Amino acid sequence: MLIERIWPGNEYRNFHYLLACPETGEALAVDPLDWQRCLQVARARGWTITQILNTHDHPDHTGGNSGLVGATHARLLAHAGAATGIGGVDRGLHKGDVIRVGRTVELECLDTPGHTLSHICLLSHTEQPALFSGDTLFNAGAGNCHSGDPGLLYESFSAQLARLPEDTRLFPGHEYLARNLEFTLDREPDNAAASGLLAQAKARNADEAPVTTLAQEKQVNTFFRLSSPTVIARLRSAFPGIGERPDARTVFLKLRELRNSW
Ligand SMILES: [Zn+2]
Ligand SMILES: [Zn+2]
Repeated sequence: MLIERIWPGNEYRNFHYLLACPETGEALAVDPLDWQRCLQVARARGWTITQILNTHDHPDHTGGNSGLVGATHARLLAHAGAATGIGGVDRGLHKGDVIRVGRTVELECLDTPGHTLSHICLLSHTEQPALFSGDTLFNAGAGNCHSGDPGLLYESFSAQLARLPEDTRLFPGHEYLARNLEFTLDREPDNAAASGLLAQAKARNADEAPVTTLAQEKQVNTFFRLSSPTVIARLRSAFPGIGERPDARTVFLKLRELRNSW
């Protein structure tokens, strides 16, 4: 599978992705808000966009659909639960569905509610797995739950994402790495891995932002560090009521709450 990460440089800091079959040149576009840019990149590579996937129904992920469908006649794929809201969806997706691109690419649909109630993450069936995580999991962070449910986001993290292979590469819907690392360091000032990565992130432009793995996320993403003694001790000073040994769910929910106003 060929992966092209596209940085349109817009105010939302979106990442778009083209996932292509090296044998046939067929490509799937993930959340192509800047659809002209995606089309331009596909043409430059000699690829044909035959499918579009929306991870969820927010306009910064769906806003390029009609333009790109108009230009390519690609099929539109989205979570079955988000299809009515998005409109024009040709294939409603469910947990475990497999999307094929060309002859060689297979992507498995994970049903990961939390950021919204109907959110798809895509997991590639490749030697080194890749996760296209939309607004569920960011580099060093977690999606907000303004139109979702933080309890469901915790379930998606703990029951699904945390259990993926450690070498899974992470391709989220937005570039928030430095900002998220700053939150991690606010919660866990002694996290050396987070300080190291922050220095790296600040030294590079967003279009060259490092691609993290799940193993790395477990070191630097505070939403995976729910049993860290520093995280818990600092959280207790903000929320004394959580007690000495809060469970992972409580820690996650309080971190998510703090992040909303941080
Ligand atoms: Zn969103
Ligand atoms: Zn978004």
